[in-house]
Amino acid sequence: MSEKRDYYEVLGVDKSADEKEIKRAYKKLARKYHPDLNPDNPKEAEEKFKEINEAYDVLKDPKKRAQYDQFGAGAGGFGGFSDFGGFGGGGEGGFNDIFDMFFGGAGARHARQPGPERGNDLRYDLSITFEEAAFGKKVELEVPRTVECPTCHGSGAAAGTSPETCPHCHGTGQQQVVRNTAFGRMMSTQTCQHCHGTGKIVKTPCKDCHGTGRKRETSKVTVNIPKGVDQGSRVRLSGAGEAGRNGGGYGDLYVYIFVKPHKLYTRQGNDVIVEVPITFVQAALGGSVQVPTLDGPVDLKIPAGIQSGKVLRIKGRGIPFLRGSGRGDELVHIKVLTPQNLSGRQKELLREFGEISGDKVNPEQKSFLDDLKRFFKK
Ligand SMILES: [Zn+2]
Ligand SMILES: [Zn+2]
Repeated sequence: MSEKRDYYEVLGVDKSADEKEIKRAYKKLARKYHPDLNPDNPKEAEEKFKEINEAYDVLKDPKKRAQYDQFGAGAGGFGGFSDFGGFGGGGEGGFNDIFDMFFGGAGARHARQPGPERGNDLRYDLSITFEEAAFGKKVELEVPRTVECPTCHGSGAAAGTSPETCPHCHGTGQQQVVRNTAFGRMMSTQTCQHCHGTGKIVKTPCKDCHGTGRKRETSKVTVNIPKGVDQGSRVRLSGAGEAGRNGGGYGDLYVYIFVKPHKLYTRQGNDVIVEVPITFVQAALGGSVQVPTLDGPVDLKIPAGIQSGKVLRIKGRGIPFLRGSGRGDELVHIKVLTPQNLSGRQKELLREFGEISGDKVNPEQKSFLDDLKRFFKK
């Protein structure tokens, strides 16, 4: 700033220009060289902007202007303007005033209000037992999440204070940016860098959340797992996610269901599959066996001559339907066990059994043997 240009020259006005002309010229130039509007060459713009402000500061004031006309720059204490002190101060001729002029009134109405931002959804993976999946369960979860700060109710401002409207964007959260391109001046809207789009600035931050309006905590959340859920089912808890911004509300919590494998049961839709081993004597003679069900043990009648792999159905003892009433069935898969480690007496009896049975074989076996004979004749 050592080579000071003539203030009239800086503003591009005649020495005889009146206050109105000076103001008009200043506004036009300030708009052109405002550093915020010149993101491509901010340094150059800032230099120019300071120069314009310095000139205007003198020429707008009749007293200073008269002194300047008489003595020139640097005389009578005009030198103090080079220290502009950055652009955040908001003093006379500073940032705030400029924006008042540019975007107050009509301009502000076009800018979008800072939109409420909904909080994030959360996911919780919950393992439950086979029985809990069948009949449902009330579970209390501990969910680490971001919540609205209870001290300031999300405003971020200390007790007794409230957030102030951002002076840079006038609460719109948006700033107009002008770029000079090969195609001319382009106007675009950007998120305000000072308030990060919130439109508010907290001067005295809340001590509990450091002005963020949000806090981490572990919330206790009660989930009612409905009857009939299955592996991969998802339960949504509306509003149990993270806190939003600008009154955007909470996100949701999604509880993903994982069903632990059961020792006895597997599931097929709403049917419960259980494999029940029986002795070959039980299989041949029939009888009653105790089988497990979701409702406790049930006596199941085994018809005489049952084959291994046969499926017996116990109606209505399966998994309740997720929607509506009713339940699936339990499907009992019969597994006939072949006797092992026979004693001499047992072997004797079986041989005798074989002898007296002769060729009175099972019809299924006879049919297989007939097929076999035909196969080898070819
Ligand atoms: Zn707070
Ligand atoms: Zn702002």
